[in-house]
Amino acid sequence: MSIKIVDLTHIYDKKTPNETVAVDHINLEVETGEFIGLIGHTGSGKSTLIQQLNGLLKPSSGEIIISGYNITDGLDQPSKKGRIKKSEVNARKKRLIEVRKRVGLVFQYPEYQLFEETVEKDISFGPNNLGLRADEVTLRVIEAMKTVGLDYETYKDRSPFELSGGQKRRVAIAGVLAMKPEVLILDEPTAGLDPRGRDEILAQIKALHAREKITVIIVSHSMEDMAKIAERLIVMNKGAIVLDGTPKEVFKHIDLLEDIGLAVPQISYLIRGLVKSGFIIDPSIITVEEAKEALIKILVKKSKV
Ligand code: ADP
Ligand code: MG
Repeated sequence: MSIKIVDLTHIYDKKTPNETVAVDHINLEVETGEFIGLIGHTGSGKSTLIQQLNGLLKPSSGEIIISGYNITDGLDQPSKKGRIKKSEVNARKKRLIEVRKRVGLVFQYPEYQLFEETVEKDISFGPNNLGLRADEVTLRVIEAMKTVGLDYETYKDRSPFELSGGQKRRVAIAGVLAMKPEVLILDEPTAGLDPRGRDEILAQIKALHAREKITVIIVSHSMEDMAKIAERLIVMNKGAIVLDGTPKEVFKHIDLLEDIGLAVPQISYLIRGLVKSGFIIDPSIITVEEAKEALIKILVKKSKV
C-alpha cells in the first residue's frame, strides 16, 4: 500500500477573486508501514493534501497512485479520443471504493460526525457497510474499542453524546479503525484534548502502528508530539513541502522552522543554549528523555572531578 503523489496541485475557488492555491505542485512518496508526521502552520495545506489521498477531494492537477492504481485518473473527464466507455467508468469507480476502504481518514474533530444512538452502532456503521457478517463486525468493534482504550462491555450501549470530549474522539477513531485500513490518516487527532488525553491517544496510535505495521500519517502542528512518535516528518508551508526527513534532520533547521511559524521542541532550545555555552552534548537531541540521559552523564562526570 505505497502512496505516490506526483506534481499535485489543489486550487479552491479557481478563477474567482477568492482563488487559493492550497496545495502547490507537491511530489511525495510514502512506503508501506511508515509513520509520518505531517506538520505545518494553519492554512499550510495539510488537510487539503490528505483529503486527496482517499479521493475525497479531487486535485486541480497532478496524480495520486496508491498501490499502483492511479486514483486521480480523470474519472469524469472524457478521454482525448472521445468518450470513455461506461464499463471503464464503472471499473474506475469500483477501484476508488476499494481505495477508500483501505485508506482510513479520521477528520479533525471527528466526534462531530457521530450520529448513532449507541457507541456500538456508531463504530459498526462502516464495517456493516462492507457487508461483513454480524459476528465479524462485533469482533472488529471490540478490537477497535480496545485499541482506543474503551472497554466494550462498559461503553457499547452508551449514547456517544453522553460521553466526555475525549471519549467521543476515541469512539470516532474506533469507527475508522473498525474498517481495518491499511493506511490510517488522522487530521489533528489530539486537537482540543488535555495533555493526558493527548498522550494517551498518541500512545494508542503508536502501539497500533507497531502491532499492525500499517502506514500512519498524523497531521499535527505540535513539534513536541511529533518529535516523540514520528519516524519521518514532512513540513508544509504555503502548500509546498519545505522539509522532509527524520525528526532529528528536520529539527536542525530551527531558523527555517521559526520563519514559517513553527517552534521546534522546547528541549532543542535548551540543548542549543548548552552547546553554545561550550557543553559537550549531542546537538541533535530532540526529546526530554534523551536530554535527561545526556545531562545526567555530564553531571555525574562533573561531580567526579
Ligand atoms: P491546514 O490544514 O494546513 O490548516 P488547509 O488545507 O485547511 O490547511 O487550507 C489551505 C488553504 O486553503 C488555506 O488558505 C485555506 O483558507 C484554504 N481552504 C481550505 N479549505 C477551503 C475551502 N473549502 N474553500 C476555500 N478555501 C479553502
Ligand atoms: Mg487542517
